[in-house]
Amino acid sequence: MYGRYGGDKLNLALLVLGLVLTFCGGLFFRPLVLLADLVYLYALFRMFSRNIPARQREYYGFLKLWGPVEKWARFQKQKVAQRGVYRYFRCPRCRQQLRAPRGRGKIEVTCQKCRHVFQRKV
Ligand SMILES: [Zn+2]
Repeated sequence: MYGRYGGDKLNLALLVLGLVLTFCGGLFFRPLVLLADLVYLYALFRMFSRNIPARQREYYGFLKLWGPVEKWARFQKQKVAQRGVYRYFRCPRCRQQLRAPRGRGKIEVTCQKCRHVFQRKV
């Protein structure tokens, strides 16, 4: 693999997409399996490519799309993990996501983004 690009998150995403297409193709629509094969070939091409700058450009383009999705998923995971400790809610004026410790009753909240003050039961 010396001098080759190797693997990255985009290749992993391509392999997962290929698996999903193979599964869906086997169940519903046979030509999807051919599309899955093309996705696998593209992932292999990327792994063994010597044109590392071009593969990195593809990867950064992918991260521009995938980054916000990953950030959202990480936040949802954090919300679930802390659901017993914090209550999450949005500012009624600017929609900023806020959190406050649970079990404090009715509290006065000041939004850190827009300084709007409102009451909230937590
Ligand atoms: Zn606000």
